[in-house]
Amino acid sequence: MKNDQAGLYIHVPFCLSKCGYCSFYSISSVHLIPEFIKAVVGEMAFYKSYFSSFDTIYIGGGTPSLLSVQQIDDILKAVNNNFNIDQHSEITMEVNPGDVSLEYFQQLRKLGINRLNIGIQSFDDQILKFLGRRHTSKQAVFAFDAARKADFDNIGIDLIYGVSGQDIGDWKQTLKETLSFFPEHLSCYQLSLDEKTPLYKQYKNEGLKLSAENEALDFFMTTSQILTDAGYVHYEVSNFTRTDSLKSRHNMKYWNHTPYLGLGPAAHSFLDSKRWWNKAGVKTYLNAVGEGKNPVNKSEQLSKEQLALEALFLGMRTKDGINLEQHKACFGSDLMAEKRLIIKELIKNNLVELKNGFLYPTLAGMAVADSLALI
Ligand code: SF4
Repeated sequence: MKNDQAGLYIHVPFCLSKCGYCSFYSISSVHLIPEFIKAVVGEMAFYKSYFSSFDTIYIGGGTPSLLSVQQIDDILKAVNNNFNIDQHSEITMEVNPGDVSLEYFQQLRKLGINRLNIGIQSFDDQILKFLGRRHTSKQAVFAFDAARKADFDNIGIDLIYGVSGQDIGDWKQTLKETLSFFPEHLSCYQLSLDEKTPLYKQYKNEGLKLSAENEALDFFMTTSQILTDAGYVHYEVSNFTRTDSLKSRHNMKYWNHTPYLGLGPAAHSFLDSKRWWNKAGVKTYLNAVGEGKNPVNKSEQLSKEQLALEALFLGMRTKDGINLEQHKACFGSDLMAEKRLIIKELIKNNLVELKNGFLYPTLAGMAVADSLALI
């Protein structure tokens, strides 16, 4: 079945160096970029009969800003040749502050990129160094200013908190500095360490300290308080926006089961209750597409029960929560009948609220959203 309101994600799997906390798939062999562009363009052909048009495009990674303007143009031209792109599409690109210039941003704007997500993470050079980022706070400030000068009026900033040695005062200072730029969107992630990351090894072997549970809660609550006081809407556990219309339209598709197509190594896709994901290795991916084969690694067909659970999990992470009637119509699951006692208990503990047919998390509930989904 073709789908009209889908999102398109393009994964650019290259990074000049690996950040200590990162578990995303990327490699540093940037000489493969030209071959990668050809493969992504080739991969589009497999999906022409499944996806007709997109109204969001997200170029993420990895580090998309390692691509030249010409390479981004090649990708976007191919997208336009293969699919219909809604004229009001949100077209986002992730950028690393260490890579960019005013001219680069101006060129991206001309290509139709209308939203930037800048991976600033911190304005503190010591923290940036600890995280293994290859940019400085000065470059972060430059990147944001240059993006504004290039006429970007929808800019998101990514930040990380809960870093070893960072106390709540340091974090407040970071938020204050961030707010001085008045970004349209903010993603504030708590540092968490996957076992495969270099920082995890330091944590295990060298006694690296992470925030204790109560400190993490303090960071979370403080972040929400400061940003909502500044007029931002806390619309998802880690995400804040200046107005509802500036929410990440692309990410919303992940959170409400809207179809999306992911192109590139390790990219995930979702359509008609089916999820599939590509081979992760860049060379394996390039070889597959080069031989005219679809680079899908595996797929799974989700049952109604699995989709209902996911909807519960995702809904408990967002301010809008779960529309109970819609949930019942989609999945045949009457949450209020099936989980009445548990929901009553959660309401009593001020973790969820029930209003106008919606079940949604309170701020305290959002702080423990993942465990709420286990109800
Ligand atoms: S730049 Fe992003 S994707 Fe690349 S290593 Fe750092 S966190 Fe991971």
